[in-house]
Amino acid sequence: MCGIFGIYPNKDAARLTYLGLYALQHRGEESAGIVTYDGKKARMHKGMGLVSDVFDEKSIQSLRGELAVGHVRYSTTGSSTIKNMQPFLVSHKKGNIAIAHNGNLTNTTRLKNMMEERGSIFQSTMDSEIIVHLLAKSDKKDKKQKLTEALSQLEGAYSVVLMLDDVLVGARDPHGFRPLCLGKLDGAYVLSSETCALDIIGAKYIRDIEPGEIVLIHKDSIESIKPFPKKKHAICIFEFIYFARPDSNIFGKNVYLTRKCLGKNMAKECPANCDCVVPIPDSGVYAAVGFSQASQLPFEMGIIRNHYVGRTFIQPSQFIRDFRVKIKLNPIKDVLKDKSVAVIEDSIVRGTTSRARIKAIRESGVKQIHMRVSCPPLRFPCFYGIDFPTKKELIASKHSIEWIRDFIGVDSLKYLSLEGMLNAMLLPKEEFCTACFSGDYPAQVSKKFSKNILEK
Ligand code: 5GP
Ligand code: MG
Repeated sequence: MCGIFGIYPNKDAARLTYLGLYALQHRGEESAGIVTYDGKKARMHKGMGLVSDVFDEKSIQSLRGELAVGHVRYSTTGSSTIKNMQPFLVSHKKGNIAIAHNGNLTNTTRLKNMMEERGSIFQSTMDSEIIVHLLAKSDKKDKKQKLTEALSQLEGAYSVVLMLDDVLVGARDPHGFRPLCLGKLDGAYVLSSETCALDIIGAKYIRDIEPGEIVLIHKDSIESIKPFPKKKHAICIFEFIYFARPDSNIFGKNVYLTRKCLGKNMAKECPANCDCVVPIPDSGVYAAVGFSQASQLPFEMGIIRNHYVGRTFIQPSQFIRDFRVKIKLNPIKDVLKDKSVAVIEDSIVRGTTSRARIKAIRESGVKQIHMRVSCPPLRFPCFYGIDFPTKKELIASKHSIEWIRDFIGVDSLKYLSLEGMLNAMLLPKEEFCTACFSGDYPAQVSKKFSKNILEK
């Protein structure tokens, strides 16, 4: 997962990109970066950590130019290291190319081997670097042809924002796995993973970049091409379940309203006989609102989140994750004591966080805990950019719901069904990728690539 952003032309491009990345911070906390272009020179500033740590007034002022591309990273391929920070910039004799990529490519081993045999030298372990090499290698003069040639070789998921000298480019793969929208601020066009970043800079949402579309933004014009054969749309349903911000619209639809619908459907499908509805903040809050409204059970914020702790899951090592769980959420004893509660969670991935949280809720003297989860059991790894990579790590791939109930330590555990989840979406169900729940992978995944992950 990652957040991507771009703007052109605006004399405050770097500052606006900084603000945009701030709004997209939830999409990745590991590193942040901005590349700008001033008509002659490309400049870059990036670093490990949060947007607010990586940039200061000096670094923003040094990023001169009316075109900017930004990225916040959450590693899915390539380890969490300095050389894997994005945007990735190369300056070569034909010009400057910078990329900010969200998604996972699935044919990278083959492409990389092919290119290394022909003399390419890779600086990172990121699949995104491959896109830059493909662009740099292309002999095509025309940027549209260059982009078509490079992107047509990719398989898997990509939403990208690119700088090709003085052209800002936005593109989505033909399946459209990851979001990317287009906005406008005065005379400038803006590209962003989610609309919350348009809101923060006061840009107006225009539309989503379509699956298989490439948009080229020039100083005073915009062009769009759709050079690839059509493929079945496969937008990531997990963006709606968990990943995106509730105040965003993604794929044209509002995330908060979708999550509330998930909660409503849960109240219908798997009601709970209890005194109140308590969300696990923050991600469980929106489904809990829907659950409470539909079941007419009172909504209580019975667990409070410490907002100075980052997202637990994003930290790459297990040690940090376990530690953070304990300091992040605090149940309110006076609210929960002697109550039977429906605890609402957006998803269960490994089950370890849920187990720790339930233990803490138990310690508050609660009578019964009925856990409701706003999506079906996650059984299959994602090859397209969400960070639940191996089957072994997904608790529901190996264990029954009863087993998970006992492991987590709740009195009852129910998940929303696949149909219940799809029915809550504000888009037709054929539009979605549900591979992590169903194992039905919409895009080709090479044997070698999937073997590692599926068989672990
Ligand atoms: P678990 O109990 O499976 O260890 O953790 C479940 C929690 O992880 C839920 O609260 C859910 O919101 C969160 N979660 C689910 N998927 C992701 C993800 O891809 N990234 C992050 N950061 N958290 C996730
Ligand atoms: Mg959560």
